[in-house]
Amino acid sequence: MQFNELNLHHDLLSGVDAMNYIQMSPIQELTIPIILAGKDLIASAQTGTGKTAAYLIPLLDQVIRSQSNQTSALVLVPTRELAKQIDEQIEGFSYFINATSIAIYGGGKGEDWDQQRKALVHGADIIIATPGRLMAHMKSGEIKFDHIKCLVLDEADKMLDMGFSDDILFIIKHLPAKRQNLMFSATMPKKIRDFANKILNHPEEVRLATSKPAEGIDQQFYLANDTQKIPLLAHLLKSADVQSVIIFSSQKMMIDKIIRALTKLKWDARGISSDNSQEERENVLRDFKNKQYKILVATDVLSRGIDINNLSHVINFDVPRDAEDYIHRIGRTARAETTGTAITFINEKDQYRIRGIEKLLEKEVEKQSITESLGLGPAPEYKVASTKKEFKKSSGHKNKSKRRFFRPAKKPSEN
Ligand code: AMP
Repeated sequence: MQFNELNLHHDLLSGVDAMNYIQMSPIQELTIPIILAGKDLIASAQTGTGKTAAYLIPLLDQVIRSQSNQTSALVLVPTRELAKQIDEQIEGFSYFINATSIAIYGGGKGEDWDQQRKALVHGADIIIATPGRLMAHMKSGEIKFDHIKCLVLDEADKMLDMGFSDDILFIIKHLPAKRQNLMFSATMPKKIRDFANKILNHPEEVRLATSKPAEGIDQQFYLANDTQKIPLLAHLLKSADVQSVIIFSSQKMMIDKIIRALTKLKWDARGISSDNSQEERENVLRDFKNKQYKILVATDVLSRGIDINNLSHVINFDVPRDAEDYIHRIGRTARAETTGTAITFINEKDQYRIRGIEKLLEKEVEKQSITESLGLGPAPEYKVASTKKEFKKSSGHKNKSKRRFFRPAKKPSEN
C-alpha cells in the first residue's frame, strides 16, 4: 500500500514524498489506519521496521488539521539519541507544513536546559522527551500539558529496563485523561503488558512476527569466561576482515576497558556510553556512520534505536538479555544480500539465555571453545538450560549462587 492511498493532508504527503517514502512498510500499513482512527494501540515493532514514521505521520496529519498552537503530542523515548533522531524525522516530514517539535533530553549544557524550558512553556506541536529530563522540567512548574491529544511510548520495553516506569506514570498523571495512547515495544514480556494495561484504553494490538535473520549471517558462539573475553576479542578481530563492527556490552564499565585494549593493539575503536557528553556521543556516532573508523563499542541500552546498519560484524560481548534483541542486533549485518558475521561470547552465567535464542532461530548454533588453544585456559563447559533454575541445577549451584544471578535491581542512570 502506498502513502498516497491514505487520506493524508496534501502538504504532509509532499513532505513524505520528498523523504522518498512511497511504499508503506508492513508495520506502517498495519498501524497507521488504527492511529488515524484515533484508537489506542500496542504494537511490537523493532527499530528498522519503520515504526517511527508509523506514528509520526498520523501525528503530523493531526497537527496540520487542528491548527492549534498548543502541544498536542508527547513522545516518550528511552535515549537522547532516539529523541534527536525522531526530531530530525519530524523536520523532514514537515518541510511543507507548519509544525514544530522539540527534543527534550538530559546531559547537555546548562543553556540547553533554559532553551528546553522556554520551548516547553511556549509549546511546540510535538514534544519528544526522555522521561527523566521531562519530569525534572515538570517538577519545576509552569509547564502545562492541557492540550495533549496523543501520548506515544516508543521503545517501551527499554524505558522500563532503564527504570523509567515511575517517571512515566508521574508524567501521565499530568496529561489530560481523554487522549489517545500508542505504545511501541520491541519485545512484549509480561511486565510490558501489565504496564500497558495501566495506560492504554482498549488498545488494538499489532504484532509483527520476528523475522528470522538473513541467511547470509554467519553466527558464531564462543564460550569464554569474563577474563578471557578481551584477548579472545583481540584474536577474532585480528583474524577477521572487519569493515565496520559494533561491539555491544551490557556493562558500561567494559566500554573503556575494551577500547583501551583495542587501542593498544592499534585498532581505532571509539565508544559511547552515558558517561560521554551529548556532543561527544553525537560526534562518535556521526563519524562511525561516515566510516571514519571501524569499531564502535556501545552499551546495549544506548545502541537500541540507533539507525546503523550494513555492518560487516556485530559482536555481543555478552549474551543479549532478550532473544528478540539478539535477532535484531545481528540483523544489522548482512543487509541487502551481503554477508555478515555475528559473534557472541557466552560466559557461564549467560548460558541459560542461549536456548531462547536458538528457539527463535529454530536451530542450534555450535558453541566453540577456542580459549585453550589460544593459551587463555579452558573455556566454561556448556550446559543446556532454558531457565536460570535449570542452569543452576545442572551446574550444581547451591544457595550461594543466588548472589550471582539475582543482584539487587539498581536504577540505571539515564542514558
Ligand atoms: P525506524 O524503524 O523508524 O527506525 O526506521 C528505519 C529506517 O527506515 C529509517 O531510516 C527510516 O527513515 C526508513 N523508513 C521507514 N519507513 C520507510 C518507508 N516507508 N519508506 C522508506 N524508508 C522508510
